[in-house]
Amino acid sequence: MLDYLVIGNGLAANIVALKLYENNLSFNLIGNSQLSNCSQIAAGIWNPIVFKRMTKSWMADELIPELLLFYKKWEKEFQTKFCNERVIIKPFFSQEEKDFWLKKAKDDLSNYLDSSVYKKNEKQNGLIIPSEYGIVKNCGNIDLPVFLNECQKFFSLKNHFIQEVFDYNLVEVNTENVSYKNIVAKNIIFCEGYLVKNNPYFNWIPLNPVKGEVVEIETNNLDIDKEIYNRNGFIFNLTGNKYKVGATYNWKHLNDELSDSGLNELKNKLKLMLNKSYTLVNHSAGVRPSAIDRRPIIGAHPMHSNMFTFNGLGTKGVMLAPYFAKNFVNYLLKKEELNKEVSINRFYKLLNG
Ligand SMILES: Cc1cc2nc3c(=O)[nH]c(=O)nc-3n(C[C@H](O)[C@H](O)[C@H](O)COP(=O)(O)OP(=O)(O)OC[C@H]3O[C@@H](n4cnc5c(N)ncnc54)[C@H](O)[C@@H]3O)c2cc1C
Repeated sequence: MLDYLVIGNGLAANIVALKLYENNLSFNLIGNSQLSNCSQIAAGIWNPIVFKRMTKSWMADELIPELLLFYKKWEKEFQTKFCNERVIIKPFFSQEEKDFWLKKAKDDLSNYLDSSVYKKNEKQNGLIIPSEYGIVKNCGNIDLPVFLNECQKFFSLKNHFIQEVFDYNLVEVNTENVSYKNIVAKNIIFCEGYLVKNNPYFNWIPLNPVKGEVVEIETNNLDIDKEIYNRNGFIFNLTGNKYKVGATYNWKHLNDELSDSGLNELKNKLKLMLNKSYTLVNHSAGVRPSAIDRRPIIGAHPMHSNMFTFNGLGTKGVMLAPYFAKNFVNYLLKKEELNKEVSINRFYKLLNG
């Protein structure tokens, strides 16, 4: 009998599975990325600042060190690079904005905001930067297609990975174990992102999913290498002349389909950031599994103590998943308390009425 069955094939399922592996537990991962592909298309950026309010992103001080430890460890293990530390360039549009930034850089955001004011230089010709800008430190991005591909190779090689669409009708659960087809496990962990809506055990968790679209473009001689330029959207270098541009937010049309309106929105964002020609090379869409209160939703089913969910990573999966997968696995193994803000307990009343 296995210790765990993990369902899903995105960031959540793979990071939970890596944490189970680190703890020498036996498990199978059943997933199919053809159903939805939010993790595969995400920009993978981590950013400690909420620009709208110029505040620190929730738990950034704890989440960023953990994410660096986690992804760098697995870069070494997989012998593949996917963790790119970067800075964010944020242009100033008024004296007030600049003064507020500098105040914050000396005050509560000193770990993250560079306290210098930078002037646009001649190398940045392709970018539309008004004249001066600030820099956010301790940012970066995970190349998610590379990371997820390495996870899949790793788990396949170890016979942990089963590529299929999980059929909820075939699950049998009792107090001792969970069985699915010919697999018997002590526990099951569901990590299906927004497709949890199809899961009869957890379809009541209150997600507020948000569709997002991104594009990849090619353009020459744009001098941003380690930087992410952010101006009501972002652009950063992937490899060579290829850049990723994003992203849109749409709460109405929850599907993975490419839309003309999404594409136009991204082209308009680009118009504000880039003053040179480019070729569109890729366009993709996905649905972020955001929770109603913007916190992950993690923990046990109220009626089945061997069924769990790890979901609600929303717009910040890259930052949240390593820290909370560690908290979750310690909760499973060592009865460590789940952070109250992410524990599924907060929504039990929805099921019980
Ligand atoms: C345009 C866009 C840009 C983004 N940019 C960023 C960013 O810069 N930084 C950041 O941190 N986050 C970003 N995100 C959010 C990030 O993608 C999510 O937080 C994260 O990927 C969610 O991972 P997940 O595993 O919970 O969900 P998903 O990626 O949706 O994974 C769920 C997986 O489960 C599989 N699955 C579901 N049901 C079944 C079933 N019945 N059987 C088998 N498999 C099943 C699905 O096919 C899928 O592979 C972005 C998202 C989008 C859409």
